[in-house]
Amino acid sequence: MIRLYCVTGNPGKLREFRLAAGNAPVEIELLPGFKDIPPCLEDGATFEENAIIKARHYARLARVGKGAGHARPLLFADDSGLEVDALEGAPGVLSARFAGWHGDDRANNRLLIEKLRGVERRTARFVCAIALVEGERLRGVYRGAVEGVIVDDPRGCGGFGYDPHFYYPPFGCTFGEAGAEEKFSVSHRGQALRAMLAALDQEPLPQEP
Ligand code: IMP
Repeated sequence: MIRLYCVTGNPGKLREFRLAAGNAPVEIELLPGFKDIPPCLEDGATFEENAIIKARHYARLARVGKGAGHARPLLFADDSGLEVDALEGAPGVLSARFAGWHGDDRANNRLLIEKLRGVERRTARFVCAIALVEGERLRGVYRGAVEGVIVDDPRGCGGFGYDPHFYYPPFGCTFGEAGAEEKFSVSHRGQALRAMLAALDQEPLPQEP
């Protein structure tokens, strides 16, 4: 069993990661002392850069013992967001604070729909990048993306963020209407997490001396 420490202030994300891991031989835990570590400035230009910034920051300041059977603790951080083609990739890395305040989903959604008023081209994607560090060494960055279409009227109250406006054609509904397991079987976050687990499966970890 491999223990992976997750860096997130969002308990929903932790649940989603655990769900996406399914039966893989990993335990995903919130980084001990996460709340006591001051957050870092996520000023990267890409999801990948921000995920690396976050993972390195917490790896440097975290106090965790040796991991489950392997020499150095494994810690991962993600950065994710929505890219809308007609908005030239916006809100992108600014997804959480599109309307100006961090994490105001309602205001973000309102602004998104306002900006797309009268626009026919509605294609968009959710993107997630996960950076994995071992000790303080970057082991890899893993990406997932899922394509959809932005709809004006919110549908469903599941998920979070832009989910009620993100229509996913293969499901015939928005991510807000899809069940959590259904969403994570295809989502950007689920894909990135599974890519990380596949890489871990292929590259053995150094064992504890
Ligand atoms: P992060 O916590 O910095 O990755 O912020 C990502 C932001 O992108 C969130 O606050 C949401 O607005 C948006 N986002 C990322 N993933 C999702 C998703 O799965 N559904 C809906 N919105 C998402």
